[in-house]
Amino acid sequence: MQRCPRAFVLRYGIAAYAADHPTGQMLKDAFEIQTPWILMQMSIRETIRDYVEDYQLGMKWSKNLIRLKFSQIFRYKIQDRNSIIKQLPDWEEPGSMFRTVKPEKHLEQIGAKRCVDLLENDSFIELLNTMSIKSIRPTKSKNIDGVKVYNSADFLAQNGQRSISLIRINLFGIQSVDQIKYNAALFSLGMKNQTIVQYSWQNGRWSIHRTTVCDEEKQSLRKLIHLDSIEMERVLKLVGPRNNLEQVPFADSSRACTYCSVRFLCPAKDGLEEAKMEQMSLMC
Ligand code: SF4
Repeated sequence: MQRCPRAFVLRYGIAAYAADHPTGQMLKDAFEIQTPWILMQMSIRETIRDYVEDYQLGMKWSKNLIRLKFSQIFRYKIQDRNSIIKQLPDWEEPGSMFRTVKPEKHLEQIGAKRCVDLLENDSFIELLNTMSIKSIRPTKSKNIDGVKVYNSADFLAQNGQRSISLIRINLFGIQSVDQIKYNAALFSLGMKNQTIVQYSWQNGRWSIHRTTVCDEEKQSLRKLIHLDSIEMERVLKLVGPRNNLEQVPFADSSRACTYCSVRFLCPAKDGLEEAKMEQMSLMC
């Protein structure tokens, strides 16, 4: 939403509510297609989840098994991506997003290394050895003041009743301490007195931040979520009864368009500024 109101509307408005219409179905499929880089990140998270689950059952994987499991998951994701692309109807200007690909060796190496580095990290091993750890479903939502919020951490770690932590793997790194605090506040919403432990990939290694969130921070985040939900509803209402997107704003920056899944059917595909100018002239 912050990056592009139009992509938000296409994804959570038209694709979600018009799935039985060919364009709605195509949008839904298009949003499923991720770049190999993103699929690599998703495969890291899945490998780590599987590892933690097996570890809790007393099965410890070797380094080679971690690499193998990562490669399997990554390859499956690439296969799934390719099969969605093959089913998509031909589009007059197919974007580079819609080319089938083979799993790239260097992405497999990068992903496997990041998994091994995290699973051999002393602090992560300590958590595994001293806490009971459960995966949290990524699709689990929280009801915050009547708004469904999807912002789950990856694991809940518990040591009896005394100590409870939420663990989050930030695969895309972090930009600032403020971002770490903001993330921690998001994950702690609806929870009591937890420590949020974030592992973030940064400058070639995993950095660790432990945060406790105070009530004032949670309160100000609730207000932000409330304002955000009002804005989302406002943007969704800009779509007319005939799914007219004329008034729906484009992204703020062309960076948002670079890997946008629906660029192929957006007027911004030929230039974001040109699309904005055309929109303004139509609205005058
Ligand atoms: S191409 Fe750019 S402007 Fe169009 S929907 Fe995607 S992110 Fe938004």
